[in-house]
Amino acid sequence: MADAFDLVVIGAGPGGYECAIKAAQLGLKVACVEKRDRLGGTCLNVGCIPSKALLHASELFHEAGANFADMGIEVSKPKLNLKQMLAFKDEAIDGNTKGIEFLFKKNKIEWVKGEGQIEGPGKVKVGDRTLEAKNIVIATGSDVAKLPGVDIDEKTVVSSTGALELGKVPGKLLVVGGGVIGLELGSVWGRLGAEVTVVEFLDNILPGMDGEVVKNFTRTLKKQGFSFKLGTKVTKVEKQKSGLKVTVEPAKGGDAEELEADIVLVSIGRAPYTEGLGLDKVGIATDKRGRIEVDASLKTSADGIYAIGDVIAGPMLAHKAMEEGVALAERLAGHYGAVNYDVIPGVVYTSPEVASVGKTEEQLKEAGIEYNSGKFPFTANGRAKANKTTEGFVKILADKKTDRVLGVHIIGVNAGEMIAEAAIAMELSASSEDIARMCFAHPTMSEAVKEAALAVTGAPIHM
Ligand SMILES: Cc1cc2nc3c(=O)[nH]c(=O)nc-3n(C[C@H](O)[C@H](O)[C@H](O)COP(=O)(O)OP(=O)(O)OC[C@H]3O[C@@H](n4cnc5c(N)ncnc54)[C@H](O)[C@@H]3O)c2cc1C
Repeated sequence: MADAFDLVVIGAGPGGYECAIKAAQLGLKVACVEKRDRLGGTCLNVGCIPSKALLHASELFHEAGANFADMGIEVSKPKLNLKQMLAFKDEAIDGNTKGIEFLFKKNKIEWVKGEGQIEGPGKVKVGDRTLEAKNIVIATGSDVAKLPGVDIDEKTVVSSTGALELGKVPGKLLVVGGGVIGLELGSVWGRLGAEVTVVEFLDNILPGMDGEVVKNFTRTLKKQGFSFKLGTKVTKVEKQKSGLKVTVEPAKGGDAEELEADIVLVSIGRAPYTEGLGLDKVGIATDKRGRIEVDASLKTSADGIYAIGDVIAGPMLAHKAMEEGVALAERLAGHYGAVNYDVIPGVVYTSPEVASVGKTEEQLKEAGIEYNSGKFPFTANGRAKANKTTEGFVKILADKKTDRVLGVHIIGVNAGEMIAEAAIAMELSASSEDIARMCFAHPTMSEAVKEAALAVTGAPIHM
């Protein structure tokens, strides 16, 4: 039967497409239902990939204007061609989404175009087709979380999606929410000339990140021109003849204040997306935040139906969704598969980057785990000095008794690449001594990881 499969995956974001590919590689007959006109989900279409393309281009724009002359490269003041920069971003989307289409064809996965609705156990309706499969995986991801009383029109009041395609650089950009997405997109437009103000409900940006890193990073962003209104909530955004009037109040109560902005970016988080999926038809339970509840094997409360990625609990990150997709596919194909939730890196792709994996100092203290901390600043790293990228540090936290590495936090250029070293070490249960005894290529920024490891129980060489 043409519509009978071993596995039907709903949603072709990083979770869904990796699950589909892995399952097909392991011999299952797979269909993947996707209602967007391109594969890749939020990540490839309106998330990770386009934002990183703009971060890259805007950083080079800024570098050319700010730092080239110091290196003896004399260019006239760079001129922004925003249309071309957005086209560069669109090319990145195109290349990546077409890549997934190619992989689907290569692995004989049928892309069923349209909205999937679960009709009953083992049945997914897409338009006038009913797909049948022993197993169904829900990978429908997430959508922009709405701020009560603030209407997103994607023109002047935008979500991250609108902020990836503004037609001109705003004079004043007000970012609601000091999380990763707001700070990354704030950086893009800040580098291109916008005056950026971040309004954050909590007393700090990047909630959940290591406190010392956050303090250091906040200072860095301020030096770059960011203004912060912390412990503050946005209560109203009104359109005026020209621009927007934004009413803010202290989060703990107090007098309201009015701010002006040309563009307001609402980036207060993302909400699980299950609209029109038919969860009620099969009795799939969700928690109070609307996330599909799953057990340790990623199974929902309905037999034969699983869920992965942003639509379930856990960090809303593409690689977390991918790991779940692959582990689940392996198990459904009769193999072993698991996700180590203790070692999921998180990266903020600003300049410098912020990256972390494992526990923060705050988490260790709260759990009553005794630890040693080793820190090494990039000001003492040869490569960083040569490149004049000395901002930031590496911090390694290791168990006081066993020396096992429990957390690594990096702020610095290319921190997002360096954190992979820490993740490998942690995955292999390394001690700080294991890292300190490894040979790192010189001169690299990564040597700061070795030096921080040396600092955990002893002393770094270059300090
Ligand atoms: C601006 C921005 C930047 C980001 N940057 C990063 C980053 O740098 N690194 C990182 O790790 N994460 C980043 N993220 C988060 C990342 O995009 C998500 O964590 C990831 O996409 C989640 O993957 P997913 O497969 O769970 O769902 P999604 O990527 O959301 O994909 C779900 C797909 O399901 C489809 N769908 C939904 N319902 C149905 C249905 N009923 N029928 C058919 N199709 C359906 C949707 O159209 C969508 O394509 C970013 C997000 C944003 C918004």
